Amino acid sequence: MLTARVRALPVGGRHSGVRTADILGNVTFPVVGMVGGGQLARMTHEAGIPLGIRFKLLSDTARDSAAQVVGDVVVGDYRDLETLRAFAQGCDVITFDHEHVPTEHLRALEADGIAVRPGPDALQHAHDKGVMRAKLSEIGVPCPRHRLVTDPADVARFAAEGDGFPVVLKTVVGGYDGKGVWVVRDEDGAADPFLAGVPVLAEEKVDFVRELAANVVRSPHGQAVAYPVVESVQVNGVCDTVIAPAPNLGDALSAQAQQLALTIAAELGVVGHLAVELFETRDGRILVNELAMRPHNSGHWTQDGAITSQFANHVRAVLDLPLGDPRPRAKWTVMSNVLGGDFPDMYSAYLHCMARDPQLKIHMYGKDVKPGRKVGHVNTYGDDLADVRERARHAADYLRGTITE
Ligand code: ADP
Repeated sequence: MLTARVRALPVGGRHSGVRTADILGNVTFPVVGMVGGGQLARMTHEAGIPLGIRFKLLSDTARDSAAQVVGDVVVGDYRDLETLRAFAQGCDVITFDHEHVPTEHLRALEADGIAVRPGPDALQHAHDKGVMRAKLSEIGVPCPRHRLVTDPADVARFAAEGDGFPVVLKTVVGGYDGKGVWVVRDEDGAADPFLAGVPVLAEEKVDFVRELAANVVRSPHGQAVAYPVVESVQVNGVCDTVIAPAPNLGDALSAQAQQLALTIAAELGVVGHLAVELFETRDGRILVNELAMRPHNSGHWTQDGAITSQFANHVRAVLDLPLGDPRPRAKWTVMSNVLGGDFPDMYSAYLHCMARDPQLKIHMYGKDVKPGRKVGHVNTYGDDLADVRERARHAADYLRGTITE
């Protein structure tokens, strides 16, 4: 005879809720509801598999990256509250692969008694760059000089208040991979950002030597772990390569960046993975560029280069499980993004890439190959940074088709 073993399981702090039995009468593992069907959702789902965690996905289409691999997929619009409400039924916790869900919808879900992680109070800072800048300034986090601007004339006033043009303009919501960011050199060139009809943030153009990311994971319990600070190399506003740890970053600056990220996570009440994108300035300071409260491209190296990946720790955090060790497995790990090129058949490149470098780790997202689109990434690791970088670069370029040997 099958008997249901119903007991409280760790979902929602320590630990709410009696779990329902599945079709066989056994108590089941928690269901994580993931809003957004991109590659971050796909890889978070992958990290939940060894733990037996079940996923339910709210995806824009049935063809999205994660929708191809998750068993329980709802196709629907995350901007519609009733769709979100229906989706949340049967989920023990809701988490995200993007920050675009309207904050008021997340508040409504919480009012319904649904565990939303990260919650709206935290997530609004990743959703809206104006809210983020205001909060970071309030808690004393170093940021570029900034303020909201109303029109091109106001941009000129903002420039005059500082060192003049160029100035960086950003729409406060909806941007990604540099879309929604403009570098403007005069008032006449400042019109475009205002066309979208959303508030525009002006920032000083920071004279940085490189971009860094400090990634941390925090649980509702208050436990937090910090990954090594990484260098993120951008090409045309898109992350191209991540080097872990950031080469030649002094211990003091590294510890400062990690502490900054841990402080932001605690102050904003973040649950899950928090990526803090940073500028390292010419005079040796770090300034926060932006925040992402979800697994992040700058953390993809952790899949093969850290003891616990960002995805596994995000799953643990949203379920309030103890977090895993974030330390690196190798001296150096390098991640290079694979962008689509002119050759749609990337699989045909596997033979060469795998034969050339048996240590190479390929992660593909199941996306159609279109020029410039992020369709996967590779991870390499080892003791010699130049060699590790070359292997990642070679594989990414070969997969894209920009080199043939
Ligand atoms: P997105 O949300 O599209 O990722 P970001 O705010 O991260 O936008 O900006 C994209 C890129 O633009 C950054 O990685 C950086 O290279 C450049 N950038 C953004 N803000 C500034 C700034 N204030 N000064 C100089 N460069 C900037």
